[in-house]
Amino acid sequence: MASSTAATKKAANGSTPQIDPRYACFKIKIAPSKIHRWGVYTTEDIPARRKVVEYIGERINRRETKRRADSSEMIYLFTLDPYWTIDGSVNGSGAQYINHCCEPNLVARIIKGHIIYMSLRAIKKGEELTVDYHFDKKVERVPCGCGAPTCRGTINVL
Ligand SMILES: [Zn+2]
Repeated sequence: MASSTAATKKAANGSTPQIDPRYACFKIKIAPSKIHRWGVYTTEDIPARRKVVEYIGERINRRETKRRADSSEMIYLFTLDPYWTIDGSVNGSGAQYINHCCEPNLVARIIKGHIIYMSLRAIKKGEELTVDYHFDKKVERVPCGCGAPTCRGTINVL
């Protein structure tokens, strides 16, 4: 399987991962984040309710999702529906580096099998892009340090 993507090559070199501009509707870039390792930032103003970037990656089934979730520390898995998951670490657009925040400026919408990150409000140039991961309450609880005034203390839904 051809899994040597630009993103994984960059990560192996220890340099900054890149956004694939084919999937971004605005000028956005990856840079170190206060929230967690890397984050995604906009380098131009984004109006509210606009498509910002598509989350892409390898489409994997339920069994493979469980295998990868159990075997790796750094996982970028997005649940598409009860059966399919998108693994952003394989041929991802860079959207997999968008961090969780309890008061996010993006929301994920699933449109015809595509995961689209839309702006929830106007976002200023230089802001970090964030989305609420809504981890299931049944899975292992992940603490949250997003720093938002309304932080619920966990990435999982309560
Ligand atoms: Zn939080």
